[in-house]
Amino acid sequence: MENISKQGITRMRLHEGLPRQGPGSDAVTAHALSLLPAIPSPARIYDLGCGPGRATITLTSILKQPVVAVDLQQDFLRQVLYAAEQNGLSHLIETQCGDMTVLHDQPGTINLIWAEGAIYCAGFDRALSVWRPLLAEGGIVACSELSWLTENPSTEPTAFWQLNYPGMRSVVHNVTAAEGLGYKCITHFTQPLASWWDEFYNPWLCHIDTLKLEAEQDQDLRKLMDDALMEINLFRKYSHEYGYEFYLLQKSN
Ligand code: SAH
Repeated sequence: MENISKQGITRMRLHEGLPRQGPGSDAVTAHALSLLPAIPSPARIYDLGCGPGRATITLTSILKQPVVAVDLQQDFLRQVLYAAEQNGLSHLIETQCGDMTVLHDQPGTINLIWAEGAIYCAGFDRALSVWRPLLAEGGIVACSELSWLTENPSTEPTAFWQLNYPGMRSVVHNVTAAEGLGYKCITHFTQPLASWWDEFYNPWLCHIDTLKLEAEQDQDLRKLMDDALMEINLFRKYSHEYGYEFYLLQKSN
C-alpha cells in the first residue's frame, strides 16, 4: 500500500464515491471507440488511470476482449472489480495496482491504451513517449485531456489553470505535440457539456454538500472544497474557452 499523506487522504475524501474522477460518459467512451479502426482480436488492451472504472466497463462490454485496468489506488481497483462482477465481466477484467508509465510488456505488443482524464497525471508528452515503443504496429492511444479551445483564453481561466494545471495546452498544440512524438492523430473531438455535469460536477457538488459539517473542523478540507467550487463556477462561465478534448492517436511509422 502506498504511503499517503494527511493531505492526500483529505483529497481522496473530497473525491470518494463519485462515478467518475473526471468529465466523461459511457456515450463518450463508446463514441471514441467507434471512431477507431478495428481492434485486432486477440488484443492487448489497457485502461490506464482507470479510477472507478466506468470506461473499463464500457470498453470491455463493447470489445468483448480482456482489458487490464491500472491505477495507483487500490480503492479504485476494488470498485473496478465490483463493477466487473455486477456487469458479468469478471472473466475479462484484470486489475493492476501500479504506475501507468511503468508497464512490463514487451516492446511492440500493446494494441490499445485507453486513458480517460488520466494522461495528465503522467504528463501528456511523457506518457506518449513512454508508451510509443510498447505499442504494436498501428497501436492506438485514446486519451482525454483538459485543453484550451481558443488560442486567446480570458484572464480569469488562464490565471486559475496556470495555478492548477500549468501543463494545459490548446487542442492544436496537443495534436502537434503528439505528431512530434510519433503519432498520427486519427481524429479528436470536444466532449459535450453534459459529460462534465451529469457524471462529474453534479455528483461532486452533492458530495461536497455532505462534507460541509466535517469541513467546519478541517481547514484543509475546507480549502479543497472552496477550490473545487471555484473550479466548477469557472466552468459555468468559461466552458466555451476550455473543455475535455478526446484525442485518438495511432502510432505512426
Ligand atoms: N479514468 C478515470 C479516472 C481519471 S482520474 C475516469 O475517467 O473516471 C485519474 C486517475 O489516475 C485516478 O484514479 C488516479 O488514482 C490515477 N493515477 C494518477 N497517477 C497515476 C499513475 N502514475 N499511474 C496510474 N494511475 C494513476
